[in-house]
Amino acid sequence: MLEKMSDFFKKLPTKKCLECGQEIEEQHECYGNKCDNCVDVMK
Ligand SMILES: [Zn+2]
Repeated sequence: MLEKMSDFFKKLPTKKCLECGQEIEEQHECYGNKCDNCVDVMK
């Protein structure tokens, strides 16, 4: 049972912002690996 749970989480890639390290929810791919806050700063 535990092994199945591990596999489940492994299939879910956790994106983290390269700037602040904050976890990023599924967003537009064009944003790359940055959260909304950091993306706004780049503008
Ligand atoms: Zn960020």
